[in-house]
Amino acid sequence: MANDPIYLDHAATTPVREEVFEAMKPFYGPRFGNPSSTHRWGRDARAALDEARERIANCLGAHPDEVSINSCGTEGDNMAVLGTWRTLRAQGRNAVVTTPIEHKAVLAATHQVAHEGGEERLLEIDKNGVVCTPSFDALVRDDVAVCSIMWVNNETGVLQDIPTLAERAKARSVVFHTDGVQAFGKVEIDAKTQAFDLLSISGHKIGAPKGIGALYIRRGTPLEPLLHGGSQDRGRRPGTENVAYAVGLATAAELAVKERESHWATQQRLRDALETIILEHIPDAVVHSRGAKRAPHVLNVSIPGTDSESLLMALDLRGIACSGGSACQSGSITPSHVLTAMGVDSTLAAAAIRMSFGPMNDDATVTRVGELFPKLVAKARSMAAA
Ligand code: PLP
Repeated sequence: MANDPIYLDHAATTPVREEVFEAMKPFYGPRFGNPSSTHRWGRDARAALDEARERIANCLGAHPDEVSINSCGTEGDNMAVLGTWRTLRAQGRNAVVTTPIEHKAVLAATHQVAHEGGEERLLEIDKNGVVCTPSFDALVRDDVAVCSIMWVNNETGVLQDIPTLAERAKARSVVFHTDGVQAFGKVEIDAKTQAFDLLSISGHKIGAPKGIGALYIRRGTPLEPLLHGGSQDRGRRPGTENVAYAVGLATAAELAVKERESHWATQQRLRDALETIILEHIPDAVVHSRGAKRAPHVLNVSIPGTDSESLLMALDLRGIACSGGSACQSGSITPSHVLTAMGVDSTLAAAAIRMSFGPMNDDATVTRVGELFPKLVAKARSMAAA
C-alpha cells in the first residue's frame, strides 16, 4: 500500500518466516522433551535435534558432527577466535590475525586475546574495504593461531575472496575462520570444496528467531569450549539445547540456500536501481565499497552536508526504516569503525546511511524511497545551511 512503512534494514535483522514459525510450533507443545532424557519425550527431542543438525550441515556441505548449534553469530565468532587461540597458544601460535572492519564480535574477542597475553594483528584493507594480499602474506605466519576474516561486511556489503584466502591460510597451516553471518544465503558456501576451518552463521539474519546460530567446525580443528558444564554437543557447548530454535534454524537455512540465487538477482536489481536514482539526484553522494564486489543486499551511502542521525529520523517519520552503520552501534555517536578503517573522513562517515534489502522489499520500495530520499536530503541540507 502506498503509505505502508518500509523496512530497509534486513542486515540488522529479518522477520521470522511463516514456515520457520510453523516448524517450531510442535516443540512448544507436545514435543517439549529434553534431548538428554532417555525416555520417549527425550528420544523424540533428540531425534528432532539430530535431524536439524543434519539439515544445517547439508546447507554448509558439512558432516553433522561439524555443526555446533549455539545462540548467535556473536557466540560463534567468540568461540572461533578465543577457543582456537586458547588451544594453540601453548604450541607457539600466540597471534590472532583479523581485519579492522570485522563485526565487534570478532574485534572484541581479538581484544580479549590481547588481554590474555596474545598478539593482535590487523590486516591492511584498501579504500573499498578489501583485504590487501601482501598484508595477508606478511601477517599470516606460522606463529598465528587463527586468522578471522568476514565473508560479507555488514555495513558496506563488501565481499572478500574467502575461498582464496582460506587456501592461503591452509598453505601456512593456520586455522581460518570466517564470519559468515551476512554471507549465508547470499554466497555459495561449501565446506567440501572451500578450505575454511570455522564459519559462523546467525539465524535472525535469514528468517529464524534471534538467539540461535551455528558454528561450522571442520573435523580436527583445535577448539576449546567457551562454556563448561554437561556433555551436550560433544562437550563443545554444554547447556540444554533449544530444540525449537534448532529446527527453526534448519528450516530457515534450507530456504535460504534454495532461494539464494533468485534473492541475489532480485536484491541486486533493487539495490542498483535505488543506487542509480540516488546518484542521479544527489551527484555528490558517496556509495561506500562501490569499487569492489559487494553482496547485493547492502547499500551504504554518505550524503555530504548531512548527518545520518537527523536523516534517519526524517526517514523514520515517513515510515522508512534504515540504519546508520550497524545496528549494534545505534545510539553511539562515534563514526563507524568500518568506514573509518577504509579511510573515510569522520564527517563523511557520520553522514552514512545503510539501506539493506530483503524479502520485505520490491519495486515499490525503490519507487517510494527513490522519490522521498532526495527530497529529505535537500531539506536536511537547506536546514543545515540556514
Ligand atoms: N557478524 C556480523 C557480520 C553481523 O552482521 C552480526 C549481526 O549484526 C553478527 C556477527 C552478530 O550476530 P548475532 O546478532 O547473531 O550475535
